[in-house]
Amino acid sequence: MGHQIVMPNNNPLADIKPLNSWLKLAESGIGIIAGPCSAENEEQVLSCARDLAKNKNVGAFRTGIWKPRTRPEGFEGAGEIALRWLDQAKKETGLPYCIEVASARHTEIALKHQADMLWLGARTTVNPFLVQEIADVLKGTDIPVLVKNPVNPDLELWIGSLERLYKSGLTKLAAIHRGFSFYRKGPYRNSPMWELPIELKSRFPNLPILTDPSHIAGSRSLLKEISQKAINLEMDGLMIEVHPNPGIALTDKNQQVTPEAFAQLLEELVLRKRIGDKEFEIKLEQLRSEIDKLDSELIHILARRMQIIDEIGNYKKVNNITILQLDRWREIASNRVAQAENMGLSREFITTLLNIVHDESIKRQETILGNSNSKPGDTEL
Ligand code: PEP
Ligand code: MN
Repeated sequence: MGHQIVMPNNNPLADIKPLNSWLKLAESGIGIIAGPCSAENEEQVLSCARDLAKNKNVGAFRTGIWKPRTRPEGFEGAGEIALRWLDQAKKETGLPYCIEVASARHTEIALKHQADMLWLGARTTVNPFLVQEIADVLKGTDIPVLVKNPVNPDLELWIGSLERLYKSGLTKLAAIHRGFSFYRKGPYRNSPMWELPIELKSRFPNLPILTDPSHIAGSRSLLKEISQKAINLEMDGLMIEVHPNPGIALTDKNQQVTPEAFAQLLEELVLRKRIGDKEFEIKLEQLRSEIDKLDSELIHILARRMQIIDEIGNYKKVNNITILQLDRWREIASNRVAQAENMGLSREFITTLLNIVHDESIKRQETILGNSNSKPGDTEL
């Protein structure tokens, strides 16, 4: 008898079940979960569920019944009573529902009502204590759980939350990519940083990932672009916020769409892209994130350079000296130009850049020295 070679299994989420084993997929093969940000009242829940059930692409209804609000005056969710509305909606439409749980207590209540699926919000995934409490309550069940990325771009934290649930015996797991929060906002409410879900996918190829374009976008107008990108990158599904009347929604009103607009959005998405597009998108994304990093380094370097210019200015002031440094300027300029040309940059480009940096340096030292008569060369380049 030959011996069996057992390959070490490096994937700590190896036995995760495929998405279609617990979520009805759309014709196109992706999973779609849709519904209002918050369950506001019975009529709103029923009306939205009825409309969404007519859309054969929708696999589950989503809504929040406990809402994590940034400020205490916001609507904090209808609470447990909303589970009755959801049970009613499910009875009528047959659509399974998915709610957010953020504590052991929420989880116990959700299980008591036999919620179909749960999700962990971005503010829960960041907290291993909460995730562990929830995982402990879920032990012994096989309820599907979707884990949103943490608010900060920390892939390990995201993976750690999935692992805690997996170690509790849950195998119907998926990740939700909802973007990452930054102090200085770009065009999105939460920066997508596609390189993170891409990295997650490459480390755990069997882990389904849904994109939540609503929370990435923060506004309806960007939903389509982000959804299309998710599809091009071969994410496994979408979670989208849909409200019967977004204009009067109690939470996230700028990013929710009507059931009609949602149906149209799905229609407009190009669901099957040619093979090769994914590789192209991934490569492009990697290159773009490299550019982002380099730009940020460039800004740091420029800021550090100006700090040193200021230090020199202060030093000169304390010592009461202004030294003409024309020679230094000439030497610096020619050294830098030669180095830059050696590295494939044009003389014109590097000279323009050095002049801009030099002018700014002069301005800063003039402010420090209180001297507006200096000529190029009076100042450190
Ligand atoms: C939500 O889905 O409505 C929500 C609060 O999401 P997140 O945790 O992504 O902010
Ligand atoms: Mn929301």
